[in-house]
Amino acid sequence: MEKIFRVEHLACGYGELTVLSDICFSLEEGEALAVVGINGAGKTTLFRTLAGLELCRNGTIWYRERRIEQLSPPQRVQLGISLVPEGRQVFEELTVNDNLKAGGYLSSRNQVMELVAVYNQFPQLRNLSKQQAGYLSGGEQQQLAIARAMMVHPKILLLDEPTMGLSVKMARIVYQTIEQLKKRGITILLSGQDVAKTLAVSDKALFLENGRGSVLTRTQFAAHGFQLDSLSLSGKKQGN
Ligand code: ATP
Repeated sequence: MEKIFRVEHLACGYGELTVLSDICFSLEEGEALAVVGINGAGKTTLFRTLAGLELCRNGTIWYRERRIEQLSPPQRVQLGISLVPEGRQVFEELTVNDNLKAGGYLSSRNQVMELVAVYNQFPQLRNLSKQQAGYLSGGEQQQLAIARAMMVHPKILLLDEPTMGLSVKMARIVYQTIEQLKKRGITILLSGQDVAKTLAVSDKALFLENGRGSVLTRTQFAAHGFQLDSLSLSGKKQGN
């Protein structure tokens, strides 16, 4: 199957600080990649670099057959790469409806049709459409953040800590949403503090450690009970 997204030897960081130095992975359409690592490992930096918000210092990023590491964030959005940032970052003063419209701003598609499609997919948001986003619960805001990213009809969704601060029940709903998006063929990269649950919805994992990354297959991390602690970067049990 054709790879929709390919990252080769990517390096990124801030000023003097190199956060990631040699990241490689590839994804087929509809696959989900868990991006896992301890606090400060570089998960957010990776997402922001893939979205074009941080400079790619070295390496290449391919979207299908096109190199995109020099493209601006809006150009990447227009290609179909959409970021749901850590902390949701909804526009608190705006209504749910206006947040969604803002999400579709860069899209060349018909906004009214996109809104209908997104409300069909997130029916609970339709009932809240006139509500100011700042007054939504954390779980509702997360649904809104994902729905807003869906307004550009993305092919690739970058979900940075989508369950952060959510109750177990709300987190479950977010994971169910991720499963549904996958079934619709959307390729997903996601991170999360709850590593076991993040791995459980993923086909592959990228473990970040000391600026480097290692890809594990689902078979490998499933064999370790979806636990990060028992895995080393090589995918073998620690201490072996
Ligand atoms: P967490 O799990 O805590 O969210 P993370 O894996 O997402 O962490 P990043 O936020 O990507 O990690 O941070 C990686 C490194 O880059 C850290 O050492 C952090 O201090 C540093 N860093 C992050 N943002 C900046 C910035 N804007 N300027 C300078 N350094 C930064």
